[in-house]
Amino acid sequence: MISFPFSASKSMAAAAANPFLLLRHSHALRALTTAKTSLGFPNSHCRIPILPLLHSNRSIHRISAAADEEASAKAAAASADSGGPTIFDKIIAKEIPSTIVYEDEKVLAFRDISPQAPVHVLVIPKFRDGLTQLSKAEPRHAEILGHLLYAAKIVAEKEGIQDGFRVVINNGPDACQSVYHLHLHILGKRPMKWPPG
Ligand code: 5GP
Repeated sequence: MISFPFSASKSMAAAAANPFLLLRHSHALRALTTAKTSLGFPNSHCRIPILPLLHSNRSIHRISAAADEEASAKAAAASADSGGPTIFDKIIAKEIPSTIVYEDEKVLAFRDISPQAPVHVLVIPKFRDGLTQLSKAEPRHAEILGHLLYAAKIVAEKEGIQDGFRVVINNGPDACQSVYHLHLHILGKRPMKWPPG
């Protein structure tokens, strides 16, 4: 029988204050989604094929993490157009803590709670204005979209990664978007592979 190792670290503490993370790290969800994967449910872009990876606990972690990402993304997409507040609204309002690395009147940049690289910063517009995801952009958003990219450059400089960093926008459930408030991921301080996974 496959076990599902899970380290109860700062992720769990964060999960207690953040239902989004609770969903991501739930044992039950992890087991369920992993079981679905192993039963041969159709693969999607967010899922890693299971057979080549079943040789170590580390691989099982990767499979579970991918399945969690997919489940989170689908759950988030279901309420994406409700216009309701997201966890990022609470971060903007400073109702929940974050580590801010840059801020101006239009954007906020803070460290991702689940970093995928030594530097992993999110840059978000303070006023969402319908920009739940990039595919909802309208002509009126052109200025803030440019501002977000310029802020990404400032963040890269502040973090000392201007010679090599990646800017990612996950758009929609097939790209594993999980928070429906447009955001740029700024990733750096590790080698980046191409094509991305
Ligand atoms: P997405 O999957 O939508 O492209 O990215 C959302 C990101 O938000 C994820 O990388 C996730 O780790 C991050 N995130 C979710 N909740 C929080 C939070 O409460 N605080 C911080 N700092 N990041 C969060």
